[in-house]
Amino acid sequence: MDNESLFKRAAEVIPGGVNSPVRAFGSVGGTPYFVARAEGAYVWDVEGRKYLDYVQSYGASILGHAHPKVVEAVQAAAAEGTTFGAPTEREVLLAEAIRDRVPGCELLRLVSSGTEATMTAVRVARGFTGRSRVVKFAGCYHGHSDALLAAGGSGVATLGLPGSAGVPEGAVAQTVVVPYNLVPELDADVAAVIVEPIAANMGLVPPAPGFLEGLRAECDRVGALLIFDEVITGFRLAFGGAQEVTGVRPDLWTLGKVIGGGLPLAAFGGRREVMEVLAPLGPVYQAGTLSGNPLATAAGLAVLDLLDHSSYTMLAGRAAELGPMLADVITEAGFPVHVPVVGPLVGLFFTDTPVTNYDEAQQACGNGLYAAFFRAMLDRGVAFAPGPYEVLFPSLAHTWPEIERTADLARAAIATVPLP
Ligand SMILES: *Cc1c(COP(=O)(O)O)cnc(C)c1O
Repeated sequence: MDNESLFKRAAEVIPGGVNSPVRAFGSVGGTPYFVARAEGAYVWDVEGRKYLDYVQSYGASILGHAHPKVVEAVQAAAAEGTTFGAPTEREVLLAEAIRDRVPGCELLRLVSSGTEATMTAVRVARGFTGRSRVVKFAGCYHGHSDALLAAGGSGVATLGLPGSAGVPEGAVAQTVVVPYNLVPELDADVAAVIVEPIAANMGLVPPAPGFLEGLRAECDRVGALLIFDEVITGFRLAFGGAQEVTGVRPDLWTLGKVIGGGLPLAAFGGRREVMEVLAPLGPVYQAGTLSGNPLATAAGLAVLDLLDHSSYTMLAGRAAELGPMLADVITEAGFPVHVPVVGPLVGLFFTDTPVTNYDEAQQACGNGLYAAFFRAMLDRGVAFAPGPYEVLFPSLAHTWPEIERTADLARAAIATVPLP
């Protein structure tokens, strides 16, 4: 079996051959590799090629792939039944584990995807405030619900779409898109401001000093709720998420990726009085056949159990090595490059200037250098995300030899890319 023929077959039965658009390699060219298996920092494709993997399911696999403790937990859970439509003990344990790590997140509900979490957090904010308008920031991605797709970053940006066809005007009429890193002046009709506290879907764009504090103050001034979309940053940035690092507490959180341990699981939560608007306590409806799924909660608990404060020190240490080394080899080759690092997250922009918002990200991502570098790295067995708006996700399985090898291979790879 080879990637080429599998991709052809896939395209006959799955639109574009993929179940999530960026996977199709549209913006980097070439044929996607079809993964056969993975372990730790590595994935193997169906042709037997091995890749040092910085995709790690866009951050879902923080321990690296197929961690034995996670595999064991999922196998044991599977043998006991995979879904019941009735509550289970592990849902309580996972909710407690999240609450105990995230001060202020008093009540939370488990769902199956980040998209569901953000969509419902917005509904909760609207239900609680009795207002309609939602403010989001250009380049922040909050999943693919109609109201939040505008200027969405990530795959939406990779495909060069302003938003999406099929979204009626009415669905986005109450969504206001403003630039990242500028505190907007809010009206009293705003239900919520939703933000990635560290933006990681337009490349990596850290919040400017005062930005999140300013959002908090402005939300308080008009009685709007602040939603931190921590689907990427939650349990990746720090033990307690972005709040721990920034000191800013939102009213609502959305979580995903890491907390599912590689299975479909996400969550939204917040202050008790806000979350109490949810059915069956209150009038805001939300539900899910597979919500709090027994396999997913088993994986999530196994992952959280293995993460302590030292894990984040270790992850941030790897990123602090990888970022500057990448920047150095690319600079030495004569290319403009900017490699932001925030905790364990590493970005990669082929530009001279720091990127602070979506306009600047689009400029930096438009020169084709990322695609050329991506292909040269993939040829050498290193898998970065197949789009310039994604970030690198070193995991706990990426040890010093992997980091060093990445820099060596990057030096060889960049040497094959023509200077602009
Ligand atoms: C990935 C992501 C989502 C969407 O999560 P899915 O599980 O893909 O639906 C939402 N918000 C952010 C910040 C994300 O990175």
